[in-house]
Amino acid sequence: MLSYTPSRAFAGVLAVVLIAAACAQNAEDRSPTQRAVTAAPWVVEDAQVNTDDGIRILVLHDMEGLSGQDDPKTFDFGNEEYPRGQDLLVGDVNAVIDGLFAGGATEVHVVDGHGSGNREPDVPPDRLDARAEQVVRDEWFDAYFDLVEPGAYDAVALVAMHAKTGSGGFASHTYTLGMDFILNGRSITETELVALSGGRVDVPVIFASGDDRLATDLKDMAWIEYVTVKEATSANTAIVRPLEEARTHLRAAAQRAVENLGQARVMKITTPVTATLRVVPPASLERMDGFPGVDYADNSVTFEAADLAEAYDGLGSIVGVATRGYTSILGEVIRAHPDGDAIRAAYGEALMARWFDVESGRWQPEEESPPSPRKYYGF
Ligand SMILES: [Zn+2]
Repeated sequence: MLSYTPSRAFAGVLAVVLIAAACAQNAEDRSPTQRAVTAAPWVVEDAQVNTDDGIRILVLHDMEGLSGQDDPKTFDFGNEEYPRGQDLLVGDVNAVIDGLFAGGATEVHVVDGHGSGNREPDVPPDRLDARAEQVVRDEWFDAYFDLVEPGAYDAVALVAMHAKTGSGGFASHTYTLGMDFILNGRSITETELVALSGGRVDVPVIFASGDDRLATDLKDMAWIEYVTVKEATSANTAIVRPLEEARTHLRAAAQRAVENLGQARVMKITTPVTATLRVVPPASLERMDGFPGVDYADNSVTFEAADLAEAYDGLGSIVGVATRGYTSILGEVIRAHPDGDAIRAAYGEALMARWFDVESGRWQPEEESPPSPRKYYGF
């Protein structure tokens, strides 16, 4: 995932205060969470997959762990290089779909787990293997949490994933830039997040692909078929495997993943969940330091949640605070800009004018126009 839109960074300071206040309120009753988490973060159990009615697989794809990809511009919509990323994505996703069917899958659905900024799915529908079906909804949904209903799928396959924040992988991050999700004391990848989400309804992750750093991140998920498609040499450089070789491996591993469905395992989070958002630049949680009721330390905020979904929602809210740190980069850009002084002066004036208008009753919030109908394919 990487669903960051620059415009969000411009939202007002008020949002920070409101979110922080909400966090403080939620925090009132909880125990101090800097305590050590002693229990296992999750338990791993044999999956009880019922294939009597066929084998339904959900393919969730990201876009940073693609075969043949060593340029970050390929996963961001709007770049000249993005269509090349789509070509690579179509190739990887279709290779995996082909392998899943060869292994015995009877139904394959595909959901966009990336968030490139493209309002259309990153996999153009007319280029998807015709045997597979794209997940499309009329209302927004969370690709990690809203598709794993009991009985909907027998297993999940994850394509083109990336390592977690701090792993030194190609475009490594969790959720968005600079975030580290820690559940019950364990820093997790998005792949583990999906596995834990599926674990709520006994759906295992059986396949994943990405770089060598993600392979290391996932070493405890020994039952999955993992394909290393490239070696990360930094967060924006990689040595790629020959494309045909990588695709052949993707297909073969996807086939084995379905054939060995009986050996799949599910991950179930231990509850209650101690959740921590730890962030690194350009994200920042420093504004939370000293906030009454907020368990803050070292650019981390910790809270207790009843279950995984509550932890995920809470982490998402705190991400909203942490992304305000991105504006430090905006400050750097403005300072370096030839019109920087004028922009800063205009900002100062607009800020004062807004305050005067609100205080004088002259300002009304813009009326939200009803959203025009659109389709949702995932992130
Ligand atoms: Zn992504």
